[in-house]
Amino acid sequence: MTERTFSIIKPDATRRNLTGKVNAVIEDAGLRIVAQRRIRMSEAQAKTFYEVHAERPFYGELVEFMTSAPVVVQVLEGENAVARYREVMGATNPAQAADGTIRKLYAESVGENSVHGSDSLENARIEIAQFFTDADIVG
Ligand code: GDP
Repeated sequence: MTERTFSIIKPDATRRNLTGKVNAVIEDAGLRIVAQRRIRMSEAQAKTFYEVHAERPFYGELVEFMTSAPVVVQVLEGENAVARYREVMGATNPAQAADGTIRKLYAESVGENSVHGSDSLENARIEIAQFFTDADIVG
C-alpha cells in the first residue's frame, strides 16, 4: 500500500551539512520526498512533538537538542513508507543500527541520531499535520 510518513533530519545532521547525503539514502531506498522544509523548531513545537516522552529523563535534553540548530521536516511517500523508513533509519542507538542505515552511517549517539521517522500510520498523519498542510504536499 502506498503510504506517507513524516521525517525530520535532526540538528546534528544539518549542522554537519548532511541533508543531501541523508536524502540520497532515502531516495535510494525508493521513498519519494513529496514535501520538505528547513525550519528552526520552536521550543513549543519540540515539546508538543515529543510529548509522549515528557516523563522520560532525557526529555529536556531532547527538546534542547531539537531546537539547537535548523531541522528539515519532510513527507516521504512510497510502498509501506512507515515501516520502510524505519528500516532505512536503523535502530535508535547507532551502535545497534544495521549497516547501510542512516543512523549507522551518520548518527553520533542515541540522542543525536540524525533522523526521526513516524512509528505508525496514525502517528504519521498526526505528525505531518503539525508541520504541513495538504497544499504543501505534491505527490
Ligand atoms: P525513535 O523512534 O527511534 O526515534 O526512538 P524513540 O521514540 O525511543 O525516542 C525518540 C528520540 O528521543 C530518539 O530518536 C532520540 O533522539 C531521543 N532519545 C531516545 N533515547 C534517548 C536517551 O537515552 N538519551 C537521549 N539523550 N535521547 C534519547
